[in-house]
Amino acid sequence: MDLPDAETLRAWDRDDTLAAHRAAFALPEGVIYLDGNSLGPLPHATTSALQALLAQQWGTRLIRAWDEGWMAAPARIGDAIATLIGAQPGEVVAGDSTTVLLYKALAAAAALRPDRAEILTEAGSFPTDRHVAQGLADRLGLRLLAVPAAELPAALGPRTAVLLLCEVQYRTGARHDMAALTAAARAQGALTVWDLSHSAGAFPVALHQAGADFAVGCGYKFLNGGPGAPGFLFVAARHQAAAQNPIQGWIGHAAPFAFDDAYQPAPGIARFLSGTPAILGLTALETGVACVAAAGMPSLWAKSQNLFNLFAGLAARDCPELICVTPASPAARGSQIAFRHPQARDIMAALVARGVIGDFRPPDVLRFGLTPLYTSFSEVAQAVDVLRETVRLVCA
Ligand SMILES: *Cc1c(COP(=O)(O)O)cnc(C)c1O
Repeated sequence: MDLPDAETLRAWDRDDTLAAHRAAFALPEGVIYLDGNSLGPLPHATTSALQALLAQQWGTRLIRAWDEGWMAAPARIGDAIATLIGAQPGEVVAGDSTTVLLYKALAAAAALRPDRAEILTEAGSFPTDRHVAQGLADRLGLRLLAVPAAELPAALGPRTAVLLLCEVQYRTGARHDMAALTAAARAQGALTVWDLSHSAGAFPVALHQAGADFAVGCGYKFLNGGPGAPGFLFVAARHQAAAQNPIQGWIGHAAPFAFDDAYQPAPGIARFLSGTPAILGLTALETGVACVAAAGMPSLWAKSQNLFNLFAGLAARDCPELICVTPASPAARGSQIAFRHPQARDIMAALVARGVIGDFRPPDVLRFGLTPLYTSFSEVAQAVDVLRETVRLVCA
């Protein structure tokens, strides 16, 4: 691509139809925030929603508020998230951490394939996914097999109960072909659990179209739900009647307030709830999700690609020491750009000290989130400029 001069960058920012969304966020002066894929920034709407929750709902409605929107929050927010990930209403519920939801999804999926011996996953994927899968495999007497991405299709077989994958690799940003792998798993009779932590709010996900069985994702990354925000769980409608919640509790009961001794799971996605919904966190998640929905996934993804091309082009010219490890093809990546460098740890520390915030991921990866809701083209150019100076400084 032709690299833009300062005037062209200003024109791109002026013509950016998403530029107005930046004002919806509290972003500190003097910082270029390229870490919204780790922790999304605070939406102003969240500040007011939490204030209203405290002052009006909790403060004055007290226990009556459970019937005035609180009890319905997990399913209501789930439906909002469903529109971002290509799911139908009633297929997604919000609540619990991503890690706990992974356990629920994986245990439910494995129980639907009781005669099979193996959980298959990708080597080098996010540790919590691996830990949950290993713990569950040990408990159930299954084998956990972790292979490199390219070997996944060949590793699927009649032994495979579940294929567990993070759609986007957290270090490199490489994205799996969800439709192809889901079809390959299904052809072997296996079920899929997709972790959408780096997908939801980053690009349009097509769970239904891909035929995915189960999915989970994170609320505090691209969805801006706040530190430790509740995650979300997707269970395809066709599995909901048979799938069992491994942590059955009273809120997933068909009639929680009948206080029955006998467990009777709720029909539909609500059976995957366990305990009382965390309303403070869910309220913040709801406004965070609304910020993404207001912009729309197609526009966000279109701008993300332009931000990526700009970052990649400038970095190739100005920081040739850095090796880009994120695939160039848009269909093969998420909304981030990552580079390898032997001194990545020191470079990122120096970069953060100069106000450009990204992530270091061991052993040698510099990772920058591309978040079109609040990142301008000028900021990306400025960030690469500081990156260039920082690399020189650290490696001098
Ligand atoms: C961020 C992330 C999580 C987060 O899990 P928590 O339970 O919220 O700590 C899980 N999986 C992946 C792939 C992630 O990137």
